[in-house]
Amino acid sequence: MSNPNLPLEVVDMLGQTIVKVVPITIVLALIFSVLTHFWACNPGTPWWRKRELVTDLCYWFFVPMFARVFRIGFLVLGAAVVFNIHEADELIAFYDNGHGPLSALPLWLQALLFLVLSDFMLYWLHRMFHGGAFWKYHAVHHSSEELDWVSAARFHPVNLFLGTIMVDVVLLMAGISPKTMIWIGPFITFHSAFVHANLNWALGPFKYVLATPVFHRWHHTALESGGNTNFAGTFPVWDMLFGTFRMPKNELPDNYGIEDQSFPSEIGGQLAYPFRH
Ligand SMILES: [Zn+2]
Ligand SMILES: [Zn+2]
Repeated sequence: MSNPNLPLEVVDMLGQTIVKVVPITIVLALIFSVLTHFWACNPGTPWWRKRELVTDLCYWFFVPMFARVFRIGFLVLGAAVVFNIHEADELIAFYDNGHGPLSALPLWLQALLFLVLSDFMLYWLHRMFHGGAFWKYHAVHHSSEELDWVSAARFHPVNLFLGTIMVDVVLLMAGISPKTMIWIGPFITFHSAFVHANLNWALGPFKYVLATPVFHRWHHTALESGGNTNFAGTFPVWDMLFGTFRMPKNELPDNYGIEDQSFPSEIGGQLAYPFRH
């Protein structure tokens, strides 16, 4: 399958992504500026004076474009390899409303199923990235020392491939309708910014239901102060089930980052880091 317009389509897709990301970013910036002013987990520097703000903003715009292009690319590739579907209109018909038994469920149930199944897979992939040969890729995400909402997108492409991109592709190929993304997309964007935000919110008893800023900020602390716990992205129930849940009473996390003090602070060096180590 060759498509002479592919480069143009990719450029167009990048443009569309930027147009979507800019207003969302402005809204999130406003929301978290207000919230972190009143309920900071670690009072001090506001997010806009983070030392590595430019690095985080580069990821913030680069990651959604990258993820979108590769998600679509792998969906097309997967349909060709697994289902022998090659033509553009066949592809659209195949993915448009999902396919098979999962697509017969009500859309809200498909959305819920997508959230639960993807979160379960991401929990284990996250644990995998905390071990052995994979850590150097995930270290990029943990390199933020001034953790705030804008740090949420700081991920190495390898971490994205073997994480959210792969999980999305698997579930859409399994038949869940992409229309579920109308709800899931905004939820994931807001929630991932929320759990990284500098907020002292643990949400009382809901801390067992939904990942909160305090829950995820503990994940970003050093090993001896609680790191290697709280791997779940959305539902802490995985950590409770598999023994990695940690929410110390009357204590808030501080001190984030990784051991390697020579870790690069700009995006180019960070992307190259795993290949140099
Ligand atoms: Zn982690
Ligand atoms: Zn994080």
